[in-house]
Amino acid sequence: MSIKIDKLMHIYMPKTPFEKLALDNVSLDIDDGEFVALIGHTGSGKSTLIQHINGLLKPTNGTIAIDGVDITKKEVKLSDVRKKVGLVFQYPEYQLFEETVEKDIAFGPSNLKLESEEIKRRVKKAMEMVGLDYDFYKDKSPFELSGGQKRRVAIAGVVAMEPKILILDEPTAGLDPRGREEILAKIVSLHKEYNMTIILVSHSMEDVAKVAKRIVVMHKGKVILNGSPKEVFTKIDTLEKVGLAAPKVTYLMKALKEKGFNVSEEVFTVEEAKKEILEALRGANYD
Ligand code: ADP
Repeated sequence: MSIKIDKLMHIYMPKTPFEKLALDNVSLDIDDGEFVALIGHTGSGKSTLIQHINGLLKPTNGTIAIDGVDITKKEVKLSDVRKKVGLVFQYPEYQLFEETVEKDIAFGPSNLKLESEEIKRRVKKAMEMVGLDYDFYKDKSPFELSGGQKRRVAIAGVVAMEPKILILDEPTAGLDPRGREEILAKIVSLHKEYNMTIILVSHSMEDVAKVAKRIVVMHKGKVILNGSPKEVFTKIDTLEKVGLAAPKVTYLMKALKEKGFNVSEEVFTVEEAKKEILEALRGANYD
């Protein structure tokens, strides 16, 4: 299932004094099974873009084809689009409302008018996919859970729709470091084990460097960079000009190199940096 976005333009409140061009001629292809990160300063157009991919917003101009079907056409049913494309909003736990975890996750599949056995199967599977034990959590109130667990319940509610494409808007925002790690690991497993196409909106360059295979950078409604982590994070000047940065560890490696250490500057994760530094030390006979 591929996504083809062609010359997408979105203007909020057109022909009013508040008119705002939020997407300006965005063209982007995402293939089946990709893991893409979407980054950009606040207001760069990320939320507007992802809401077009699941049909929540209609473009002012341009098209979006999912698996060859132009979803901007009037005759396309949005319920069909949402079966294919799941969108997890920022702080999705604020939208939990049922008395039990099971009922909350079942809400989406129930609207698909599925048999109750099928709904139960999906809820169980979705909970397993996000790492929540079904028997332990199913009858608990979502409100008695920790922040990270609540967020998993909310993500499970979208996963239970069994979308092939999962879009997550800042899924680690506001969690403690352990909660962040756990959610990120689950997203990676949704991609690797369950073969979902992932589009991850994030402000954390560290997270993005760790998990994404491709990074799309937005600025003022346009895509200004689009490539592998190496292609994007080596363009530090461009990133800094638009208020972004490379991962912190990349700056450390740059500084070490300037001090004469024999290390590569093209390092974007702590793991890679560790390996690179140890090798440099070994080369210099320090160990
Ligand atoms: P991001 O997700 O990157 O922070 P958004 O897509 O939310 O960016 O916003 C892009 C631009 O559109 C911003 O200038 C923002 O103020 C504007 N905008 C977003 N939502 C609305 C809206 N509902 N009405 C009017 N302007 C909006």
